[in-house]
Amino acid sequence: MPSEKLDTYFKQVDVMTDSFINRLASAVAIPSVSADPALRPKVFAMGDFLVKELKALGAHVEARELGKQPDHPELDLPPVILARYGEDKSKRTILVYGHYDVQPALKEDGWNTEPFELSVDEETGKMFGRGSTDDKGPVLGWINAIEAHQKAGVDFPVNLLMCFEGMEEYGSEGLDDVIREEASKFFKDAEAVCISDNYWLGTEKPCLTYGLRGCSYYSITVSGPAADLHSGVFGGTVTEPMTDLVKLLGTLVDNKGNILIDGIKDLVAPVTEEELALYPNISFSMDDIYTSLGSKTVIHDDPIKVLQARWRFPSLSIHGVEGAFYNPGAKTVIPAKVTGKFSIRTVPNMELEDVDRLVFAHIDREIAKLNSNNTFKRELMHAGKWWVASPKHWNFEAASKAVQKVFGCVPDFTREGGSIPVTLTFEQATGKNVLLLPMGSSTDGAHSINEKLDKRNYIEGTKLLGAYLHYVAEEKQV
Ligand SMILES: [Zn+2]
Repeated sequence: MPSEKLDTYFKQVDVMTDSFINRLASAVAIPSVSADPALRPKVFAMGDFLVKELKALGAHVEARELGKQPDHPELDLPPVILARYGEDKSKRTILVYGHYDVQPALKEDGWNTEPFELSVDEETGKMFGRGSTDDKGPVLGWINAIEAHQKAGVDFPVNLLMCFEGMEEYGSEGLDDVIREEASKFFKDAEAVCISDNYWLGTEKPCLTYGLRGCSYYSITVSGPAADLHSGVFGGTVTEPMTDLVKLLGTLVDNKGNILIDGIKDLVAPVTEEELALYPNISFSMDDIYTSLGSKTVIHDDPIKVLQARWRFPSLSIHGVEGAFYNPGAKTVIPAKVTGKFSIRTVPNMELEDVDRLVFAHIDREIAKLNSNNTFKRELMHAGKWWVASPKHWNFEAASKAVQKVFGCVPDFTREGGSIPVTLTFEQATGKNVLLLPMGSSTDGAHSINEKLDKRNYIEGTKLLGAYLHYVAEEKQV
């Protein structure tokens, strides 16, 4: 039973709380903003920081260089840091992923504190700083867990493989190739994957995430006249591209969220009883959605329907029109060429080629109905596939037990409406179950001003990551 060992480990984490917070403060102090060329040396510095911490704990570390950045050939890409802790053939091997770069942040953006100084509010336990929750806290959580085991004299339960990248906030440039390349090398012993880079559904109860929606992004371009025209001169004489585009966009979705493209609904996997049974346990109310919307303009008035609409059914959003007049005032322009952009969030079992085929067939039919002499072009701009894992897999069972041990409650089993592309890459490259085990809560404000991580989430989260590894070591081989 891991119980006694776990209690010893937990006590050690509590004893080391201050030193773990100092570690986070040192990491937050390195402004490793991947999107800012001027700060690229800091991204490298953050990578070095991790290498040093990992080596000090006795981990084997390798840095995979990625060469130059394609859209900024003068910049070197920061390395993917691969580490291995433990070489015991009798133990399970678990692969974990995190990222050490952060989103940009300037005090002037509206931060109450210096973004690159961890500022701990002792009263609320909130620790403010860029990267605190996304994703330095979780990355350091794994390092903390190793250190606390050593200090407590508790045998580390698994061999831990780590993959930490420095370009996540800039499209994970170069990462996919490394994962595919290392699947049969550095990662070959991995029996399951754990990613800690998303958030609880609320603020009180941890969750395990087993699904993500995909995204297929499209554009429709309508062009007619050679240049923008004045409506006083040409209005009524020219076939206006914007009129055609508005009609086309209007055929895609209604304001109740129903996608009006023939055949799309038929691609969606039916909801199973097993899946339905996961919903009632989830702590989520209409007030939660009102708060995150900042309004009550919801489509569904039942919390389970809201979650299903967000996670497991497709949605279509119209994002914008390039080339349209959008400034304040009353400019009487007739735009010569406009591009409408929309995307579909996809879910199991929508095959991406089928979605494209149905979307294009629909647009072509609607274009024909317009009987217009404008020129039309429609294309797929990018596509990322959905992901879903079995929440009954031993990887999830272990994490669920760990949540119960540390937090005293059964976790929410959640999906997310957005995508984390690396999840699918790991699953496809390793062929192993992938678990998303978040540390931060829904109010952490990753990517926004005043990003924070609660002390509770960081410290109990460090316990959680360690406990997960103990339970994973005990799960039966299937
Ligand atoms: Zn992140």
